Amino acid sequence: MSDSSVEFELVPLDCPTCGAAVDARGEDVVYYCTACRNGYSFDVASRSLEPIEVAFATAPNVAVDGYLPFWMLPARIGIHQRQASGASFGGLMSFFLGDGGESGLGPGEGTFAVPAFHCSLAALTAFTRAYTLHSVHLGERLGERLLGGRYGVGDARKLAHYALIASEIGKSDTLTRLEYDIEFAEARLLGVPFVRDGDRLRDALLRAAEVPA
Ligand SMILES: [Zn+2]
Repeated sequence: MSDSSVEFELVPLDCPTCGAAVDARGEDVVYYCTACRNGYSFDVASRSLEPIEVAFATAPNVAVDGYLPFWMLPARIGIHQRQASGASFGGLMSFFLGDGGESGLGPGEGTFAVPAFHCSLAALTAFTRAYTLHSVHLGERLGERLLGGRYGVGDARKLAHYALIASEIGKSDTLTRLEYDIEFAEARLLGVPFVRDGDRLRDALLRAAEVPA
């Protein structure tokens, strides 16, 4: 927005399912109703709350201090062309493509797990890599708050592309050309448990990164 006067609009946040008031922060675009345990994503075009599936990852034997929302993006990756000085994919690409990555063929399937909350680029990459590569045990939908979801599905898809490419570029061979596409299936929200360490929060399951509490 180029104009210096920024207008904030308050969105009425009564749960469309049960009518309870839904907890949210000013910049949140995803919401979770702790009363009826349904999730919603704010659709800018229709200015309405669209239902979204929610799951919680469980951390047995850990004193959890809170949950942060991730987007789960089931994806199918097709490689059209790859040229590099090395022979094979690494990072997230090899995870998705499996053996197909060796021959440069695809497609491969998997599920990206991308933070829906704001964090540093380093933390974002670490979270995405860890929670995409390691499938976590999913438990019941909890009566816990899922706050801080500032990124919608569209943003999450862009972040998935970024993480995919970042994990290839970090390899020792030189990638000179890569043509691929990702087909995304329906997104879900994942509540990931975090534990507090001083003024920081660290994810309880994979200890991938930390964010300011
Ligand atoms: Zn509700």
